[in-house]
Amino acid sequence: SICWATTGAAAAEEYVKYRDPKQPLGARIKDLLRRMTLAEKIGQMSQIDRQVATPDVIQTNFIGSVLSGGGSVPKPQASAWEWAAMVNDMQKAALSTRLGIPIIYGIDAVHGHNNVYGATIFPHNVGLGATRDPELVKRIGAATALEVRATGISYVFAPCIAVCRDPRWGRCYESYSEDPKLVQQMTEIVSGLQGDIPQNSRKGVPFVAGKRNVAACAKHYVGDGGTHDGINENDTIISRHGLLSIHMPPYDNAIIKGVSTVMVSYSSWNRVKMHANRYLVTEFLKHTLHFRGFVISDWQGIDRITTPPDANYTYSVEAGIRAGIDMVMIPLAYQDFISNLTYLVEKNVIPMSRIDDAVKRILRVKFTVGLFENPFSDPSLADQLGSKEHRELAREAVRKSLVLLKNGKVANEPLLPLPKKASKILVAGSHADNLGYQCGGWTITWQGLSGNNNTIGTPILNAIQSTVDPSTQIIFSENPDPDFVKNGAFEYAIVAIGEDPYAETDGDNLNLTIPAPGVSVIQNVCSSVKCVVLVISGRPLVIEPYIEQIDALVAAWLPGTEGQGVADVLFGDYGFSGKLPRTWFKSVDQLPMNVGDQHYDPLFPYGFGLRTEPANAK
Ligand code: BGC
Repeated sequence: SICWATTGAAAAEEYVKYRDPKQPLGARIKDLLRRMTLAEKIGQMSQIDRQVATPDVIQTNFIGSVLSGGGSVPKPQASAWEWAAMVNDMQKAALSTRLGIPIIYGIDAVHGHNNVYGATIFPHNVGLGATRDPELVKRIGAATALEVRATGISYVFAPCIAVCRDPRWGRCYESYSEDPKLVQQMTEIVSGLQGDIPQNSRKGVPFVAGKRNVAACAKHYVGDGGTHDGINENDTIISRHGLLSIHMPPYDNAIIKGVSTVMVSYSSWNRVKMHANRYLVTEFLKHTLHFRGFVISDWQGIDRITTPPDANYTYSVEAGIRAGIDMVMIPLAYQDFISNLTYLVEKNVIPMSRIDDAVKRILRVKFTVGLFENPFSDPSLADQLGSKEHRELAREAVRKSLVLLKNGKVANEPLLPLPKKASKILVAGSHADNLGYQCGGWTITWQGLSGNNNTIGTPILNAIQSTVDPSTQIIFSENPDPDFVKNGAFEYAIVAIGEDPYAETDGDNLNLTIPAPGVSVIQNVCSSVKCVVLVISGRPLVIEPYIEQIDALVAAWLPGTEGQGVADVLFGDYGFSGKLPRTWFKSVDQLPMNVGDQHYDPLFPYGFGLRTEPANAK
């Protein structure tokens, strides 16, 4: 049985306590830790990128974790089976080491299992915030966990529980809301990813229900959404009270739900890098909030503690580990990390107690996930990837995420829901037939996709086509000329415009104007035909100057692969119910402007959203 190991050919079988699942968690951790050398401990603290994670590297360095950073895939369009085979090979290498401690493989599954071809892509968090439906978000977490497990992976770098206070930030769409209360409610996704924590659990103890769940990661601790001017990875200048009342509350909720890991933010708080902030990482997170899972750095987050011309990697490692970081996302130069940390411990600069704290936390999560008992993928889950049920769930989420901001130019003359039967309708705009744009950043590649080819789903145009009456003629033109619109005898037009995909710093944007040719498409179409404008974007954009021309306006956020959800609501099979998760500003000069501010003069206030009843007009 698994509790017995043979040491040498002639040796008698020896009982190995940490391998015995009947032993209490604490006893297993203690038994394993006391057997470990410094090299084995530091190996556990190292997370390396899959591209360098050969069996030899894993074995020689006793590597504790491997990741797919920024959409790194084993090969384009790799199947669930191919992913699982890759992870299993790494696992075999880890299990063949002296103590056989399994690796934990991590991936950014931030709106579904978004690196993987064929996965269900759910709306990005900003759209989920609009649903105001924590129970739905929990189901999305559970579905995501299954798709991740289908590929042999048991750890996700999600949810992002940032409270985005400035939409100029390139990661604003990863945030559920500007309102800490709504973000707190949405931490319910942790219970979906990991399973429901048993009622009598001690606060802070990580919990993962079983083989259909994954370890989650609340990120980026803390204040990532509060940086100056929304500049990514910048300084969050705020009082202690402000930090604790705006950015901290979601962490408390995630910890109550048993979140397994917390990722530290690249940003600073009042000029101190979070990766070096011992007060917030150790005293507050681990002691005050009782978090007992592991703290992981962001990608090269430790390296960035000191920067040129004063870069000093040894000092960076010291500061990061002292601050309380347990696992270091290195991801490539792992030898430097290992040798520097070894040196610091041997010279007594970093006490062994700090290393032991880190390793205990990592082992606690690994035991909790069940990796010692079930280190390999479960082939029976392979068909969960992009399943019909999950796509239905994503479609429901899209329906509930749409926010109706305007419906008709004149009172009592609503344009929506649209009639399914019409002689001829126009569909226009760059975002009507572009699955990549619909999905946004963090989809297959880090910065996202363009076009319909590299993932599986329903573009909005196809969804419209399959929803209208067969007699209705649909004309699609991305950027139609005004005369064509005028002479086309269209009954109405659907215009889908918005942002091109982006991720992280590449998405920082100080002007938030509608990218060209969106404005000219609105003008060319809406000047002669009744039009509904869908804004496909990760955040509100400057629309005030054109609002009078538009008959109906819908914020669709970044809906993901299931564009059918958009058509379901436009044509009245379901009503509009979404509410703004963010303030819709008039101009960027007003930013930052958030609900509750003294000077609050938005175009549409936080929580706004018109409702429609289902029309059932088939
Ligand atoms: C991001 C994290 C992400 C990590 C791994 C970083 O650049 O800030 O959110 O989890 O990369 O891909």
